[in-house]
Amino acid sequence: MRRKLVAGNWKMNGTMSANARLLGRLASEWRPLQPREMAVCVPAPYLAQAQSALAGSAVAWGAQDVSEHAAGAYTGDVSATMIAEFGCRYAIVGHSERRRLHGETDEAVAAKARAALAAGLTPIACVGETLDERERGETQAVVARQVDALLATLAGDAARIIVAYEPVWAIGTGRTATPEQAQEVHAALRARLAQASAGGVGVLYGGSVKGSNAAALFAMPDIDGALVGGASLDADEFLMIARA
Ligand code: PEP
Repeated sequence: MRRKLVAGNWKMNGTMSANARLLGRLASEWRPLQPREMAVCVPAPYLAQAQSALAGSAVAWGAQDVSEHAAGAYTGDVSATMIAEFGCRYAIVGHSERRRLHGETDEAVAAKARAALAAGLTPIACVGETLDERERGETQAVVARQVDALLATLAGDAARIIVAYEPVWAIGTGRTATPEQAQEVHAALRARLAQASAGGVGVLYGGSVKGSNAAALFAMPDIDGALVGGASLDADEFLMIARA
């Protein structure tokens, strides 16, 4: 069965006190509507706090990136094994902000997904086109290229990842893809994954998801949940999305 997940991406936000309030509310108020899961992907310094606040609750936690390397002279990087030691279930890889600001290539993202899997984490691998690419009619080609890099590196293990389609022009802009625009890309992604025997992979949508637009997106046949940025910092809004 396809994995249904609403995952929060806190990005570089949070303080110990604000996190405690947010995590406390999620832990006490999220009742899983099987088979949908809720997770939060927090900045690495807050993993221990997430672990202690969420242990025993129905909310999972994870990181926003992992190194593609196992260990060694990579100052500032954090390995998947280190992340896994904090009880994480998930790690985002290939978020467009990392691709754009840190020059992560499709191949590097695939290597990060492989490192996450090797450490027992489920990678949430992000793909998506920029506004220029969409306007040039390149959306399908761009996401196919990004997914193909994952499939080439992961081979049979690709069935164990989650994919997040995040059109770059919809992230943090308040501009959401329409459910039909998102569905069109999700269907193509799923067909491509199915050709590699990974058609059962959960495919999340991300890009300005809110309580008010989540239900329409989730009604689409190939949208299995959401990767949520800004709205995941607000307990009411995030719970509303997860319940949609
Ligand atoms: C994200 O950062 O993955 C994201 C989807 O952000 P937002 O929901 O704020 O657009």
